[in-house]
Amino acid sequence: MADKYDYDLFTIGAGSGGVRASRIAATHGAKVAIAEEYRFGGTCVIRGCVPKKMLVYASMFAEELGHAKHKGWTIGDASFDWTTLRDFVNGDVDRLEGLYDGTLGNAGVESFTERAVITGPNSIRLGSGREITARYILVATGGWPVMLDFPGNEHCITSNEIFHLEEQPRRLVVMGGGYIAIEFAGIFNALGSKVTLVNRTETILRNYEQGIVEKLPPIMQARGMDLQFGTQIEQVEKLDDGSLQVSLANGKAVEADQVLVATGRAPNTAGLGLENAGIELGSKGEIPVDEFSKTSCDSIYAVGDVTDRVQLTPVAIREGHAFADTVFGGNRRSIDHSTIPTAVFSQPSIASVGLTEAEARDEYGEVAVYTSDFRPMKNIFSDRAERGFYKMVVDARTDKVVGVHMIGPESAEIMQAAAVTVKAGLTKSDFDATTAIHPTMAEELVLLK
Ligand code: NDP
Repeated sequence: MADKYDYDLFTIGAGSGGVRASRIAATHGAKVAIAEEYRFGGTCVIRGCVPKKMLVYASMFAEELGHAKHKGWTIGDASFDWTTLRDFVNGDVDRLEGLYDGTLGNAGVESFTERAVITGPNSIRLGSGREITARYILVATGGWPVMLDFPGNEHCITSNEIFHLEEQPRRLVVMGGGYIAIEFAGIFNALGSKVTLVNRTETILRNYEQGIVEKLPPIMQARGMDLQFGTQIEQVEKLDDGSLQVSLANGKAVEADQVLVATGRAPNTAGLGLENAGIELGSKGEIPVDEFSKTSCDSIYAVGDVTDRVQLTPVAIREGHAFADTVFGGNRRSIDHSTIPTAVFSQPSIASVGLTEAEARDEYGEVAVYTSDFRPMKNIFSDRAERGFYKMVVDARTDKVVGVHMIGPESAEIMQAAAVTVKAGLTKSDFDATTAIHPTMAEELVLLK
């Protein structure tokens, strides 16, 4: 292709969505270039899902070591060194970044490691000043953590910085009640930091099934976290010894070594030049797109977090792939944004697919709810009192399972398989007809009464 333009496709942002779209477009025969101002791999690989999951695994060694002691293992004086873990994780991130870059090169995608801004419907200017034209432009610039506005917020960090801390915070205050706040509170608590979680309401993980979520705060407290709910950080002061004094709206003051603010991520659209192509942003700064990820400008598309549809890596990847198939592969297709399974890597983890009980009642009227409140064998073996809780929501008229929600060890792993059944529209009777694998936690799903 690419005759009157330099490229058929120019992608801005080499995260999950941008890389997938560029690679697939290239395999469809398009001449493709991509610009990335920071590091190849985007939030998920560089400072999100992947390094976070490594920290989750590392933090879980603490309890495994503790339990092993009573099961015949001799464990010496175990201690933990943050810098060793941090450097291991960041080393692996470097490796993965190289793989991402290599994948693009192998597919014939040309890479520019500099900022790109849109100067018109078919034109881009690189940081170096070079002007480039493209038949299509794909914006895949992701999102950026929102820092709350309060005195002393310059002393606070976001999830961008937490992977690079010089030292493990002995005392960590986390602000927020969403994915990032809950996950990092759990990680640093398990690694031995004294964690205080501050949330503006009494509700965490607001969009999850609250019958499941309500099980988590007592577990967090039992694991040693201080929960300050229904309040806000009012100000943070740096003391002479370098520590931070965090004043809360409820009158309490907490001393900390780090304060992590995790109160959502905003679309990364500032200074991108979208106005030069006549594209107006939405109220959160997101790029509005149609079901094929096309913006109001026919030659410009956008995928992933920058569109603020569903801020999840697998969704961005699917949107990018569908865009490339639609525009370059002669296969016009869009993504179904319903029934997307998700998980919070809290300790224990929470996972969910489909409708909550309240949503199902709104949609179907009559619903049947099945639950299992059980003590996983893993917890019995480890002398841990924590229980697991599974909840299945069924459309009472058709017997169709419309939601599955769980809290307990390995919830995310179990949920991936359960999500297939909900997506496929299987019924409660299909679950009942399936023989259990014993002894497992997942067998609870086919034994629900
Ligand atoms: P979330 O949207 O998950 O949660 C934001 C939290 O911040 C909520 O508790 C919200 O409270 C609170 N909040 C928002 N505004 C304010 C404010 N002005 N003052 C005080 N509190 C406020 O955002 P995260 O930053 O945790 O994560 C961003 C996104 O990244 C997620 O939505 C998710 O899509 C993705 N992600 C996914 C992960 C996974 O799949 N495991 C892991 C990490 C991130 P309220 O409920 O009251 O609005």
